[in-house]
Amino acid sequence: MGVRFRSEWPYFRYMLGPVVRLGGAKHSSPWNWKRGWWRHRPRFFLGDAMPTMPKRLRPAGTRSQAQARKEADDRRGSAASRGYTSRWSKAAATFRRGHPLCEYCSLEDRVEPSTLVDHLYPHRTYDGVFWRVEWWVASCASCHSGMKQAVEAAGKAAIDALARRLGREPLT
Ligand SMILES: [Zn+2]
Repeated sequence: MGVRFRSEWPYFRYMLGPVVRLGGAKHSSPWNWKRGWWRHRPRFFLGDAMPTMPKRLRPAGTRSQAQARKEADDRRGSAASRGYTSRWSKAAATFRRGHPLCEYCSLEDRVEPSTLVDHLYPHRTYDGVFWRVEWWVASCASCHSGMKQAVEAAGKAAIDALARRLGREPLT
């Protein structure tokens, strides 16, 4: 066969695209679809030249988001170690399908979709309430971080009163 030059006839064939041969022996020619030399032509991808978003500039000496998350986990334990497993996510999703509205907002005649399931009695203070569905409350994020935190800080009597308003039996 000998050395081939770029200017020689088959090498510029790729500009016209692959040739589909009708008939003939399958592996006998360089024009074969699977094994032809034109399969090795350079390929270009639009994505290679596209600019990407630069990393956000963070002042020197401040924590990155990942570091801050890790420190928070060290302080209070990771979500999994606090009981928030995939089993919980599934159970909470099922519970929220039955309670699509925030139950705390409903007490104030507000209509707000629930985004999470709250433990009426905080499970880090009260043992064994994590899986007690009777004290799960569908809640929006703002009730959970605002009103509910205040009630929890006020003590068990306040939580009991809230339980009665929700029509739940208080924890004995
Ligand atoms: Zn709410």
